[in-house]
Amino acid sequence: MVDPVRSRERMVREQIEARGIRDKAVLDAIRTLPRHLFVEEALAYKAYSDCPLPIGEGQTISQPYIVALMSELLEVKPEMKILEIGTGSGYQAAVLAQMGAEVFTVERIKKLFFSARKRFMDMRMFSVKLKLDDGTMGWPEEAPFDRIIVTAGGPEVPEPLVGQLADNGRMVIPVGGTKRTQELILVEKINGEVKMTNKGGVAFVDLVGSHGW
Ligand code: SAH
Repeated sequence: MVDPVRSRERMVREQIEARGIRDKAVLDAIRTLPRHLFVEEALAYKAYSDCPLPIGEGQTISQPYIVALMSELLEVKPEMKILEIGTGSGYQAAVLAQMGAEVFTVERIKKLFFSARKRFMDMRMFSVKLKLDDGTMGWPEEAPFDRIIVTAGGPEVPEPLVGQLADNGRMVIPVGGTKRTQELILVEKINGEVKMTNKGGVAFVDLVGSHGW
C-alpha cells in the first residue's frame, strides 16, 4: 500500500483545504487518523480517495470532505459532549474524539456496531461510547448534548434529537424526501429558539427510524 501518511497529507490538501475547510482542529484530526483502518483491508488502498466507500450491510463511510465539512459546521471544542447517530465504520466518531470531544454514538445494525466497537478497543479510543439502538430516539440518559451529528438521511429532523440538544447547541443532519439525496441542515438552539439553515446538497444512506417514524 502507498504510504498512508503521505496519502493523508495529500487528501487534506487537495480534497479538504482546497474546498475551503479551515478549522485547524478538524484538519489536524483528519491528518492524524488512519482512515485505512476503518475500511475492509481489500478497500484500504482506496481509503484516501475522494469518495464514500462501502462498509458492508449496504452502508458507507462518508467521503472525507463531507466528514470534514460536518465536523467544521459543528464548531467542536475539547470536552464537549457529542451525540452521533449512525456509527457505521466509526470514522466520523473517531474524528470528533480526536478533536477532544466525548462522543456518544448509536448504530442500529449489529454487525457494524460490533466491528466499530472492536476498532475503538484496538485503537484504545476510550472517549467514544457506543450503543446498539434506534438513534432517532437519541440517548436520553446522557442528554443534553452540546453537539449532535446525524450521518444518515431521513425525511425530517427527529424531535427527540432537538429535545436532547443543549441550549446554544448545534446539530448537523441531512434531511430529504427522496432516497440518497438530502439537504445538509444546521440546527442551532439559541436561547431556546430553534433556527435551521440549509448548507447544501448531500447524499447519505437512509436514516431508518424503527419506532420514531
Ligand atoms: N458515520 C459513519 C457513516 C455511517 S453510514 C462513518 O463514519 O462510517 C450511516 C449509518 O447510519 C449506517 O451504519 C446505518 O446503519 C446507520 N443508521 C441508519 N439509521 C439509523 C438509526 N435510526 N439509528 C442508528 N443508526 C442508524
